[in-house]
Amino acid sequence: MTRVALIAHDDKKSTMIDLVQEYEAVLSSFDLVATGTTGQRIMAEADLDVERKESGPVGGDTQIGAEVVEGRLDGIVFLQDPMTAQPHEPDIGALMRICNVHDVPLATCRSAGEYVVRGLARDEETRRQSA
Ligand code: PGA
Repeated sequence: MTRVALIAHDDKKSTMIDLVQEYEAVLSSFDLVATGTTGQRIMAEADLDVERKESGPVGGDTQIGAEVVEGRLDGIVFLQDPMTAQPHEPDIGALMRICNVHDVPLATCRSAGEYVVRGLARDEETRRQSA
């Protein structure tokens, strides 16, 4: 099953909610993981089940990075706030680096997130048809 991580900085959480609501049908066929607060909001505001890691500033991004290393993730939508300095900037940089190392698609704005979700849905459909 396609496994996707969802992360949003505070200023981008409402954009994430909008995105997951629009793509709820597709995302409900995925295995979803999220950082703590993002996951909490998604489960409260969309009909989706999410495995919640720790909150980003206390290590959630690092936990998601570990899944990339282990080959468990097919893609990440990480809606970043480019206007506000984040206390866990090194963890964010490490997550981006490890996605590049392992060639895991990482979307950092909404429209890129839509392409990743749609692309992964298409891949899953292709797999299903050839199974
Ligand atoms: P949060 O973490 O979902 O727990 O707010 C996101 C982040 O800032 O990385």
